[in-house]
Amino acid sequence: MGKNMRKAILAEKDMPAQWYNIAADFKTPLSPPLHPVTHQPLGPADLAPIFPLEIIKQEVSTERYIEIPEEVQDKLKLYRPIPLFRAVELEKALDTPAHIYYKHEGLSPSGSHKSNTAIAQAYYNKKEGTRRIATETGAGQWGSALCLAGTMFGIEIKVYMVKVSYNQKPLRRLLMETWGGKVVASPSPDTEYGRAVLARDPDCEGSLGMAISEAVEDAMQREDTKYALGSVLNHVILHQTIIGLETQKQLEMFGEKADIVIACHGGGSNFGGFAAPFVGDNLRKGARTKCIAIEPFSCPSLTKGRLAYDFGDTAGMVPLVMMHTLGHDYMPPGIHAGGLRYHGAAPLVSHMLQENLIEARAVHQKASFDAAVLFAKSEGFLPAPESSHAIRGAIDEALKCQKSGEKKTIVFNLTGHGYFDMAAYEKYLSGQLEDYEYPAEAIHQSLSKLPQV
Ligand SMILES: *Cc1c(COP(=O)(O)O)cnc(C)c1O
Repeated sequence: MGKNMRKAILAEKDMPAQWYNIAADFKTPLSPPLHPVTHQPLGPADLAPIFPLEIIKQEVSTERYIEIPEEVQDKLKLYRPIPLFRAVELEKALDTPAHIYYKHEGLSPSGSHKSNTAIAQAYYNKKEGTRRIATETGAGQWGSALCLAGTMFGIEIKVYMVKVSYNQKPLRRLLMETWGGKVVASPSPDTEYGRAVLARDPDCEGSLGMAISEAVEDAMQREDTKYALGSVLNHVILHQTIIGLETQKQLEMFGEKADIVIACHGGGSNFGGFAAPFVGDNLRKGARTKCIAIEPFSCPSLTKGRLAYDFGDTAGMVPLVMMHTLGHDYMPPGIHAGGLRYHGAAPLVSHMLQENLIEARAVHQKASFDAAVLFAKSEGFLPAPESSHAIRGAIDEALKCQKSGEKKTIVFNLTGHGYFDMAAYEKYLSGQLEDYEYPAEAIHQSLSKLPQV
């Protein structure tokens, strides 16, 4: 079976009912997060004002499997299980003996993988009585995912949207508002931190780190409000492991074993959730799948960053975590893959890289759009600029097979669709898209300001 299959479709009853927690299988434990002011290891009480208890438990858990609550499974089944596609036409276009597969997370109603964790986080908040959640969004994918999850569970969502995106991407903002979210441009007059930034620089265009600072302040100020993060943290990656777990079942339906697994890397949540089940099989079952994270050349936290304790936000309000970082006030160039413009990498992904369990590569913007357009012309689906980095990685591996004649099985994660990114495609198609050089000086500067721990 499986020879001429175009896609593997799991029945609803075969959707994974547990998440996989890779922290259970590490030989060396993760370094603990530290309090932003005292630099002492965090206790649950430090996080209780901003996260529900169940999320805090998951953040520090070393249980290998964690049940997905029935209510979360029910909501996920709106769009899951998601098919695993064989990229037959892309293989032909590349004339490669490799088999290429992709998981299409852009088929969720919010358009990206971020719904997988937004739904789980909204559920735990609802269960513990949260009435309102504050969050940040860059390009708008995380904000959209959380606003949709908010309507599912009857929670008000307040989104601090990085000002430059707020002005450039009104469609994403309107999507969030359609789902009932309250969206404000960050820096905003709604928080003390935002007002301070605006007083210094009224034209400040904002950054993801600033928007996080505003959302956390909002959640700290109000009894009825918690905070939610769409990437980086352990519980987010835990929720995203449903991607990798489904993919493993579907590869079996195809009669295949993955040689290479590839995903793009911004904060690390889709890469972590896609790769962790494969890394787990490498650790426990002697499998030998190579897992590769692909990041943008202009924001290369894994390939050029330093492994150190750093803040996740710009104001230094959130805990210090051990991660590959470019420095918390690094301002990445304005590449179109907005979801990949984050200064750090998830602690779980950083740990996997440090232990040589995964590899990382950086690609340029134009090369990623070359890949996106070839993919769109062969497979039809229009990828998000972020996802295009993974496609570039998969195509490069398939081209190596074309030279060597090896029949590898290459699997990548298509994190989102690109229908809100047509302005970026327009630039590419009219030859105006630019590559950014590696911003060595800016990174050197921001790394010199790492907190001394
Ligand atoms: C947010 C986002 C990413 C990057 O985030 P990770 O946490 O690294 O997965 C990638 N692709 C899309 C479509 C996104 O929305």
